[in-house]
Amino acid sequence: MTVHRIGIVGYGNLGRGVEIATSLQEDMQLVGVFTRRDPSTVSTVHAQTPVRSIDALEEMQDEIDVLVLCGGSRTDLPEQTPQLAERFTVVDSFDTHARIPEHFAKVDAAARAAGTTALISTGWDPGLFSINRVYGEAILATGTTYTFWGRGLSQGHSDAVRRVDGVAAAVQYTVPSQEAIARVRAGEQPTLSTREKHTRECFVVLEDGADAETVREEIVTMPHYFEPYDTTVTFLSAEELARDHQGMPHGGFVIRSGESSPGTTQTIEYRLQEDSNPEFTASVLVAYTRAAARLAAAGEHGAKTPFDVAPGLLSPKSPEQLRAELL
Ligand code: NAP
Repeated sequence: MTVHRIGIVGYGNLGRGVEIATSLQEDMQLVGVFTRRDPSTVSTVHAQTPVRSIDALEEMQDEIDVLVLCGGSRTDLPEQTPQLAERFTVVDSFDTHARIPEHFAKVDAAARAAGTTALISTGWDPGLFSINRVYGEAILATGTTYTFWGRGLSQGHSDAVRRVDGVAAAVQYTVPSQEAIARVRAGEQPTLSTREKHTRECFVVLEDGADAETVREEIVTMPHYFEPYDTTVTFLSAEELARDHQGMPHGGFVIRSGESSPGTTQTIEYRLQEDSNPEFTASVLVAYTRAAARLAAAGEHGAKTPFDVAPGLLSPKSPEQLRAELL
């Protein structure tokens, strides 16, 4: 068994998830967590996990096979992925869909020049959902592809609610429309508006003296975030928010519905239900870490995405074992 030596760069929700997921894989050895903060201020899930400054990576090229980059997509990964790809094989979960081509180009240039492998935009969306959209379109040439998200906590929309005047704390859940899903599953291939696909549920703790109706109105009319959706706002106490809304659940569906001949409907459906979005995403990243190490060892340099990774490369099992047990 080849053991892959892993470093985690950035220790937030995803970084913690990668620490846990790595410990569940026999062929992974965690070298440590690398952070921009003072390492003495960062406490890890497992007490024995070393925490070092990100600067320590300068000296550690020979001690690490793959760096799993767990920074945020907005400002961390656009800088960190190309920079670290100059010296390491890296995996990231860059999820700003519209900017993936730009991110790919920057990372690809750095990795090709350095002779490293950089696997970007792994996770579930982008990631596993993207692969299922490709399978659906490639297999059912005539048809429509649908992605539904939720029920899940949206970090971006929760932040938007928290910025509203009078809001002390809040979370926001994206909820897929069961009616829309039923129509898609039935093979109708409906054209669905944004409002018909998802609803949004906000749970809000008000600041002292804030007017509930004013806050509700400001949330539901917020352009882009809530105006295009049917949004409900529920007010609750700080204690209720802490008691009932601490998890980070998510998930969703990718459905391709098409016809292989007139009147012969074919449906492909892929579903995820996650109790913890970061722990699930981290589990995906760790499987892709194995693939990145194997691609690097095979001399496949440059930037790659999940579209470029053969499924067998994700598995700890050998090709022989996979053919015998899972084919
Ligand atoms: P996060 O908790 O905000 O962490 C992001 C970074 O912020 C960390 O790497 C960490 O870097 C820093 N940080 C964390 N806690 C901090 C604190 N208490 N004080 C100061 N800095 C802190 O973000 P996340 O939830 O882990 O998510 C990371 C990214 O994952 C998201 O931006 C998203 O792009 C991606 N994601 C992708 C998918 C997918 O399916 N592709 C799904 C979910 C998430 P340092 O340790 O260096 O300070």
